[in-house]
Order: sequence, then C-alpha cells, then structure tokens
Amino acid sequence: MTLDSAHDAPRPLYLDHGGTTPLDPGVLAGLVERLSWPLGNPNAAHGPGTRARRLLEDARRTLSEHLGGRPEELVFTSGGTESITLAVRGCTAASPGRIALGATEHSSTRTAVESMAEQGWAVDTIPVTATGLITASALADTLRPDTRIVCLMLAQNEIGTITDIAALAPVVRRLAPRSKLVVDAVQAFTKVPFRVSSLGADCVAVTAHKMHGPLGIGALWTRAPLKPLFKGGGQERGQRGGTQPAVLAWAFAEAARAAAADTDACHRMAALRDALVAEVLAVLPDATLTGEPPGPSRLPNNAHLCIPGLPSEPLINALAEVGVCASAGAACSTGKFRVSPTLQALGRRAEEGAFVRLTVGRFTRPDELPEAARRLAACVNALRPAYAGRLTAR
Ligand code: PLP
Repeated sequence: MTLDSAHDAPRPLYLDHGGTTPLDPGVLAGLVERLSWPLGNPNAAHGPGTRARRLLEDARRTLSEHLGGRPEELVFTSGGTESITLAVRGCTAASPGRIALGATEHSSTRTAVESMAEQGWAVDTIPVTATGLITASALADTLRPDTRIVCLMLAQNEIGTITDIAALAPVVRRLAPRSKLVVDAVQAFTKVPFRVSSLGADCVAVTAHKMHGPLGIGALWTRAPLKPLFKGGGQERGQRGGTQPAVLAWAFAEAARAAAADTDACHRMAALRDALVAEVLAVLPDATLTGEPPGPSRLPNNAHLCIPGLPSEPLINALAEVGVCASAGAACSTGKFRVSPTLQALGRRAEEGAFVRLTVGRFTRPDELPEAARRLAACVNALRPAYAGRLTAR
C-alpha cells in the first residue's frame, strides 16, 4: 500500500524512539571527531593509551553525576541487555534461591532470569495492575524471606508505565532483607528524574541508544562489586573483561549531558505525545490509550494505542510501507494472533484489535504528527474490511 505516487517514497516519520533513537547531532559530530584521534588502548601506559583512559574516566565521571552515583560504582557494558544480565548473574549467591520478577519486565531480564531458573533458582512473578503498575501489596505478597533477587523496571518499554521504585524498595528491604534489587532504567534514564543513590536499588541498568546516544554502549551502576560474566583482562575493576570503547563512553556521557541541558525536553515530548494521541483520536475515534493516563506514571514520550477491528502485525507492516516507523507488542503465529507477554500481564487480548506503540523523541517535529495520524488512519481503514469477524485468540 502506498499513499503517495509510486515514484515518491513517503517521507519517513520516525515514531519508534522506544526502539532506538537517532543520534543527537552534537554527539554525532563529537563522536566522528574523536574517532579520528590517535587514541590507544585505555589500559596502556603510553601517551595514546593515557589519552583514551582520560576520555573513558571523564565519561565515567560525567555519567555518574547524571545518574547520581559515584564513578567507581559504574561499569561500562555493551548495552542494556548486558547490564541487566551482569546484574542478575553477577550478584548471585553460590546456592540457588528465589527470584521475584515483575510481570512486564523486558525480555532481556526475563531471559537472564530464565537462565538462572535452569540452574535451580525458583522464579516468582509479581503481578501488575491493568495499567502495568506494581503495587506495594502485590510486591509484598510475592516476596519470601529466601528471595535473593528482585527485578523491577523503572519505566516499561511497551506501555510506558513508570514504577515508583523508591516507594517499593523499602518493601523489599523489610520482607526480603537478603535480596538484591535490580532495576532496569533503560527507558527511564533522562526521561524520568531519579538518583541511583536514593532509589534504594543495588544495581541500575542504562543504555545509550534510547537517549540519542550511540548503539553498542551501556552501563551498570552497582552498589557492590559483581562477579563478571566474562573476565577477559580484568577491565572495569574485574567486573567486565574487554577493552573499553573510550569514544563510545564519551558519546554516552555527552548524550546524557545534552539531554540534561535540554531542560524543556520532557515537557516538549509530553506535549508532542499528547498532540499525537489527539490527532489519532480525531481520525480513529474508537482507538484507546493502553496503560496509565498521561502524567507522572507514564513516560513522556510514549503513546500505546489499541485500535479495534484488525490485528497488530499487518498494521505495523502497512505503516512501514507508508513510512511510519512504529512498533507492536504482538506477534502472529500460525494464523492466530496473540499479544505480547506485557499485554498478557495486563489481561489484554488479541481480539481487542491492533496494539501500536508510537514513541516520540527530543527531535520529533510537531508537523510530523498530523501526517502520521493521517497515514495511520489510511492503513487502518484499508485493512479493516479484510479482518471483519476474523480476529481470534491463540
Ligand atoms: N530494558 C528495556 C526496558 C528496554 O526497552 C531495552 C531495549 O529495548 C532493554 C532493556 C535492552 O537494552 P539494549 O537494547 O541496550 O540491550
């Protein structure tokens, strides 16, 4: 399906900042410049090595300031998945115990926990409300005295629900005093204000590519030293082997600095998101917002919509064809449609329709939104007749 003439590819409208974000132009320019610097291995004693070490440690200091921790508590990794896996596997006791896991955790956390289950760990799922919140009582009911790890996310990647970690951490300390609290802040960092030192967590995972920094670098803040996933040459104080990419570390820290300097960014993104939802509801009045209403319990850049009368996958594909970059939390398998584990945890069903996540970023322009809504409505209206009465659950 194309909306424009066959020869004119539609102007791309990038509304998948929850997936990854374009590089901040200032970060890109600085990155390109530094890639041409004669830098050595940051662990070498010679001049180029010393310069790389300085770049790396300056980045560690800057990033720590923005996270609210100390530089010696920060481990550079390849991204959010590695940070979370290091936190879960690296803080474990010698003998298996119980792990409590939020029902809407990202697959990187779920799979890290599943690998622990294969080694004899018992896994307890913490249920969420219909909008994705974890209440103190749901957490309390799940925790056991022998819970050793608790995994919670500060901001949910699909529906954007924000968890009040600082309010839940005391529940963990009271009911499972020997446990480590691992927090996934991958979507939250720079969009939800927090300081690791006052969150009450033991480990906090972040990544650069969700905040207009580069792919390939993340970090883990850790209160206590961790066992490495791979030892390598003992880099990162023995917690993560492998030569550190000093230039990527610089870019990560610079992206955090630029996001913090853009003091109006969260308000702007929330206004853009609200305008986008209004545009969509104007052309698709039966669409509904999934999750928490816009406000303090929802990521400022996230709109997640349920559109009745058609499944998610064909809609996402049709949107891709007309240049709208969006994502869905659902998959089609052998002709039956099913929703993502996150939507299942909320009690949502595939028969309800297409679930579409539209996420804006710091550089999204207001004029892109009416056009995105127009293309979305055209796709929905073109597909609906083909699915009349055909939506079945798996
Ligand atoms: N956690 C959340 C909430 C995410 O959204 C993602 C990425 O989609 C990850 C973890 C994994 O991060 P990365 O892509 O840097 O490995």
